Amino acid sequence: MPKPENHVPASDHRSAIVVGGGVIGTTTALALQRAGWAVTLIEAEDTPRAASWGNAGHIATEQAEPIASPAMVRGFAKRLFFRGGALALPPREIATWLPFSLRLLKAARPARYERAHEALAALLAQAMPAWQRHVAALGAPDLLRAHGHVVLWETPESAARGLANWQAADTGTAHFRSLTEAELQDWRARICAPIAGGIRFEGSGQIADPTRLAETTSARFVDDGGTRIVARVASVGDGEARLTDNRRLTADQIVVTAGVASAALLRPFGLKAPIIAERGYHLQTGPDVDWPADLPPVVFEDRSMIVTRFAGGLRAASIVEFARAQANPDPAKWNRLRQHIAALGLPIGEDAKPWMGARPTLPDYLPAIGRVPGAKGVSYAFGHNHLGLTLAPITGELVAAMLAGKSPPFPTSPFELQRFR
Ligand SMILES: Cc1cc2nc3c(=O)[nH]c(=O)nc-3n(C[C@H](O)[C@H](O)[C@H](O)COP(=O)(O)OP(=O)(O)OC[C@H]3O[C@@H](n4cnc5c(N)ncnc54)[C@H](O)[C@@H]3O)c2cc1C
Repeated sequence: MPKPENHVPASDHRSAIVVGGGVIGTTTALALQRAGWAVTLIEAEDTPRAASWGNAGHIATEQAEPIASPAMVRGFAKRLFFRGGALALPPREIATWLPFSLRLLKAARPARYERAHEALAALLAQAMPAWQRHVAALGAPDLLRAHGHVVLWETPESAARGLANWQAADTGTAHFRSLTEAELQDWRARICAPIAGGIRFEGSGQIADPTRLAETTSARFVDDGGTRIVARVASVGDGEARLTDNRRLTADQIVVTAGVASAALLRPFGLKAPIIAERGYHLQTGPDVDWPADLPPVVFEDRSMIVTRFAGGLRAASIVEFARAQANPDPAKWNRLRQHIAALGLPIGEDAKPWMGARPTLPDYLPAIGRVPGAKGVSYAFGHNHLGLTLAPITGELVAAMLAGKSPPFPTSPFELQRFR
C-alpha cells in the first residue's frame, strides 16, 4: 500500500518519529539515526528549557541504588522542606503527591527495591561508556568531563554519618576516597561555612555545558539528515503522530520521549504510567564567575545542594517538589537556595538567573523503556527521574537495539511499563 504523502521522510530507510527533544529524545534520535533510521524529532519548544537543560550536569554513575528504598522511607520526615530539607510536599498539590507517595512506599518495600536495584545498577554500569561513545560520535569529546565529583560535610557528625552511608552504599562503577588535608584546606579557603570532611568520587563526571550539549546534539542531528520540527504532539497512534495544529505525520515507528508529558500520550493505549513532576530549582550566574573552571561538581550533602561549574556559569541546584508540572514555581524554593549560597559564601549573587523544571519520576525510580504492547509502531523512553542526563546515551542505544530487534546486553523487562499494571 502506498505511504501517505506526509509519511516522513520519503526514503528507502525505515523511518521513526521521536516525540520530545529533551536529552532522552535527542540522544535517542541520534542513536536511531546512527543505526540507519530516517528520523524526525518533534519538540514543542524552539529552545527547550526543560529538565534536560536545567539539571546539575552531573554524570551520576555512583547512584546505583534507586531512591525508592527502605532507607529513603526511614529518612523521609527529616528531609521535609519546612524542617530545612529539600523535599517539598505543597499542601495545595496533595491530590498529586499523595497517590504518588503511596505508590512510592510500596515500591520501597525490600523485595521490590532489591529487584529495582539490580536493574538500575546494570543500566547505570553502561552509562559512562555510552556517554564516551556519544560525545565521540558528536565529534565533541570535551563535552564530557569524566573528572569525578566531590561531596562535602559541614559538621563532624554529618561527616561521620555521610561517610558511613557512602561506605555502605552500592556506588556502581564509581569509587571514592577521603579528601586529603590539603584538599580540605583548599575547600575551606573557598567556602565560608566550616568544612568538617569530604570525599572525592572517581568514575563519575559532568557535562561541560548544557547549552552547548543541546546545540551540538541538534546540529549533528540536522547535519546528518535528521528533520527537526517545532510543534506539539497532541496524540500518538500506531505509526502516527497528530500535532496540535491537526497535521498528521506517519512513520514506521513512533518513540515517545516527552518527559512528564509522556504518560498522557500513552494513556490511550491502556498503559498506566503513574508519573509525577519532581520539580527542582536552580540559580545560575553568567560565565564570568570567580570559580575555577576545572573544579568538579560539589555536593553540599547537609544542604542537598549541588554546585556545578559550566562554561556558561556557576549553577546551584536543589529541591525535590512533588507537584503538577504546570503549577506555578514557588519563590520560597529559590530563597532557600539563596540562604544556602549566602551561608557557604558562594559567588552566586542576586543577579543569578532562577529556573524551575520537572524531573519525570515514576514511583519505583526506574525509567520506563519499552514497546507499547499491541501496537506495532510505538515505543517509549521516559521517567529517568534524577538520572536522565546520566542515562540518556545508554537509553538511546537501548531503544535503537530494541527497534532493530537486537537483544540488549542486560535484561530490560524491569523497565517496561507493564510493571504498573
Ligand atoms: C534541578 C535538577 C537537577 C538535575 N540534575 C541531574 C544531574 O545532575 N544528572 C542527571 O543525570 N540528571 C539530573 N536531573 C534529571 C534530568 O534532568 C532529567 O531526568 C532529564 O532531563 C529528563 O529528560 P527527558 O528528555 O526525559 O525530559 P525533559 O527534559 O522534560 O524533556 C522533554 C521534552 O519533551 C518536550 N515535549 C513534551 N510534550 C511534548 C509534546 N506533546 N510534543 C512535543 N514535545 C513535547 C518538552 O518540551 C521537553 O523539551 C536533574 C533534574 C533537575 C530538575
